Amino acid sequence: MAAQERTQVGIIGAGPAGLLLARLLKLHGIDSVILEARTRDYVEARVRAGVLEQGTVGLLEEAGVAERLHRDGLVHNGVEIAANGQRLRIDFRALTDKTVTVYGQTEVTRDLIAARLAGDGPIVWKAADVAIHGIESDRPRLGYRLAGVEHTLICDFVAGCDGFHGVSRPSLPAALGQTFERTYPFGWLGILADVPPCSDELIYASHPRGFALASMRSPTRSRYYIQCSLDEKIEEWPDARIWDELKLRLGSEPVPDITTGPSIEKSIAPLRSFVSTPMQHGRLFLTGDAAHIVPPTGAKGLNLAASDVHYLCRALVAHYGKGNDDLLNGYSNTALARVWKAERFSWWMTMLLHRLHPETSFEAQMQRAELDYLASSQAAQTVLAENYVGLPF
Ligand SMILES: Cc1cc2nc3c(=O)[nH]c(=O)nc-3n(C[C@H](O)[C@H](O)[C@H](O)COP(=O)(O)OP(=O)(O)OC[C@H]3O[C@@H](n4cnc5c(N)ncnc54)[C@H](O)[C@@H]3O)c2cc1C
Repeated sequence: MAAQERTQVGIIGAGPAGLLLARLLKLHGIDSVILEARTRDYVEARVRAGVLEQGTVGLLEEAGVAERLHRDGLVHNGVEIAANGQRLRIDFRALTDKTVTVYGQTEVTRDLIAARLAGDGPIVWKAADVAIHGIESDRPRLGYRLAGVEHTLICDFVAGCDGFHGVSRPSLPAALGQTFERTYPFGWLGILADVPPCSDELIYASHPRGFALASMRSPTRSRYYIQCSLDEKIEEWPDARIWDELKLRLGSEPVPDITTGPSIEKSIAPLRSFVSTPMQHGRLFLTGDAAHIVPPTGAKGLNLAASDVHYLCRALVAHYGKGNDDLLNGYSNTALARVWKAERFSWWMTMLLHRLHPETSFEAQMQRAELDYLASSQAAQTVLAENYVGLPF
């Protein structure tokens, strides 16, 4: 048996992009249905980003889901860069009058799901084999299967918010688009543990043994990363080995006091820069990781998803409210202008802090000069701070 439904905006993916878009649209009186391939439990448990730019916090406030964020989030006025045995503090507040907030992506997702399910509209969990049809018509359709029953969702617009491995990007005609990609010859091994963080602020370490990052999700939950090779196996990294390595790499003066404990999550992720252009065709619009990926060094992935959603929501509101499609037609160009700047910053932070091979290479000498310049120039520190807290929307 086939079932047919109708909505204004069909949203594929209940990650931060899809959920935030649905919420903002609802506040403007625009209906949507979210189709999500996974279960609610799976989506709510996925450990990922943790640093929110000031603009992202503003959007979550606008969406009316910032109460817990303001209660439990940790406002950070700066970060530290550990290199050459010393720690350099980049003071965001003094340099830009802005801050970032540490609040886990899992919490952002939970807040948005709770708001959605409190009356905003449906999330179809476990929607299988989502397929996009008719994006060049004014009635695109989403086909999917739920518990063995075929469904068709008829929409005015489709928002592809289904991440890097979703169906939306491959649904754009390949001949019209272009992709840009940089892979890096290293990955990040991450550990999450219920121990207090070793510092009040994040510490990014450039060390001869490789990059390390001391981050956190709350005053009692720490998130650490170390640079690793791409063929590393997680089974070869018992917790004790990770803690020992972190202590070596984060050992710049003043040496942080690292509290160790059993891991509650451990994973290895490759690093990648990727942009697919254009981010729209016909009635299909891509947002977030569906269109672009950044290496996590600059903490930009989730924040870019939020700024795309801001531009797309504004454009749909102009379409429904004023019958004006200028913003919709310009969506890809507007979003990409900000995306490329975040791509640049994320690539630059990655090349600044990771161990590069061979150490006699030109790139490795450039890295030393960059770190030296950063330590000696307030202008250089301001550039880092301005990008880290987030460029304006
Ligand atoms: C290990 C790791 C660490 C990270 N750290 C940071 C960080 O510190 N700071 C930062 O800003 N960013 C970080 N990121 C990036 C950040 O998590 C992503 O940029 C962010 O999740 C993008 O949100 P999104 O909604 O676009 O995509 P996603 O979060 O990937 O959501 C896409 C959703 O679509 C669903 N989906 C996929 N395919 C289909 C389909 N065919 N049908 C229906 N649904 C589908 C998925 O199940 C998922 O729920 C990190 C990412 C990883 C993997």
